[in-house]
Amino acid sequence: MARWFLGVIAGALILAIIFSAPAQNVMMVWLVMNLIMLIDMILLQGKNRKKFQSAKMTQCSFCAELIQKQAKICKHCKEAVAQ
Ligand SMILES: [Zn+2]
Repeated sequence: MARWFLGVIAGALILAIIFSAPAQNVMMVWLVMNLIMLIDMILLQGKNRKKFQSAKMTQCSFCAELIQKQAKICKHCKEAVAQ
């Protein structure tokens, strides 16, 4: 999911809250903003993990499992892997 999409949703939500109850809901806006930041953080973390994994791992051409790039033998199917 693109980050701008999240931003649009966040903006719409905050506007909706502000317009539906102007006076007392600063706390609510704050809560929603925190929630959005949390979601954003989780999304970002997932992306980083994927990047990290693909930097060190490669797919075995025999069994299609993820193995270390430096591996000479696949740990799943024990085939010799080309480097
Ligand atoms: Zn394999």
